[in-house]
Amino acid sequence: MTPLGERIRRLIATSGPVSVADYMATCLFDPQHGYYTTREPFGRDGDFITAPEISQMFGELVAVWLVQAWQSGGMPMPATIAEIGPGRGTLMKDMVRTIRRLAPDLASRAGFSLVEASPRLTAIQAETLRDAGLSFSWHSRIETLPEEPLFVVGNEIFDALPFRQFVRTDQGWLERAIGIDDGGNLRFATGTAALPHDMLPPDVRGAGSGSIYEIAPAREALMSAIAERIAAHGGAGIFFDYGNLVPSIGDTFQAVRRHRSEDVFAHPGEADLTSHVDFSALAAIARAHGLQAQLSTQGEFLLDMGLLERAGRLGEAAGDDVRRKISADVERLAAPDQMGNLFKVLAILPARFDR
Ligand code: SAH
Repeated sequence: MTPLGERIRRLIATSGPVSVADYMATCLFDPQHGYYTTREPFGRDGDFITAPEISQMFGELVAVWLVQAWQSGGMPMPATIAEIGPGRGTLMKDMVRTIRRLAPDLASRAGFSLVEASPRLTAIQAETLRDAGLSFSWHSRIETLPEEPLFVVGNEIFDALPFRQFVRTDQGWLERAIGIDDGGNLRFATGTAALPHDMLPPDVRGAGSGSIYEIAPAREALMSAIAERIAAHGGAGIFFDYGNLVPSIGDTFQAVRRHRSEDVFAHPGEADLTSHVDFSALAAIARAHGLQAQLSTQGEFLLDMGLLERAGRLGEAAGDDVRRKISADVERLAAPDQMGNLFKVLAILPARFDR
């Protein structure tokens, strides 16, 4: 058992079961032993590879989208360009390079901000962006960003925020909790908090006994804070994550370590913990703030933004090895059996916006 696992076990032994959300928040962000606070999750030597780490084309195409959103929004200035949960800072670096080329005015006059909860990753981002030719400011929450039009992106940020699970029982939908068995091992238990039936989307109400339904108030709160700003000051947002476009039943809690999925209790604090993002819930929040919310798959979005053309251009001057790598990257990012369908995209825009 990891040191953090020991601590969680002792806590449960003295105070009783914890919720899935509390377990996840502790495993990911415990100041001393948390996954994002202590480890290097990204890349081949880490635990998982994200889209911006696969290829520069991802950040370039996201930047094209942001520049178009800024232009169609009437090129407001001042404006903030922000990324939430920037990991190593690679996406921001690729976006800045592209924005400087496509819209030098935007690059030189906008404020660039990174919203990051982990002090360790903040330092890595500063290092990645040292030669980007612009200055950046860091925030630990979006509430402190300047009150002005906000053009914001996030890749794999919502799945890193805690979620809750409810199990269908004879007594209704009860929160799934984490307790310990007779041998002292972590295991799932049924808690007492109940989810009122009318909080479930109609399509999932008929699910049978033992079914699991997931909600994520922390994700919804983040979307609400973003949507509130864009509704008040203008701007646009685009978010990528794996998840579902319609409300779904099912247990999507997973741990990933060294590129393999493993038991969520195997290495508390040393494995990434995630679940599928319910994009329909996030889109509903944006719409409730009077914004447009457009949903698609990552494959559709990237192909629409010109992934193949960009790959062709990058490949023109390249040798065979690089050209092979570019086509493998295109497949990985956009093919339906790779990230193309699993990953979804939510774009949020002011209501009067046409694209
Ligand atoms: N976007 C990056 C990293 C994804 S991992 C990429 O695609 O490679 C999730 C990132 O979100 C990490 O940087 C993590 O520290 C950060 N994060 C998690 N919770 C956060 C929160 N509440 N606010 C800001 N950043 C957060």
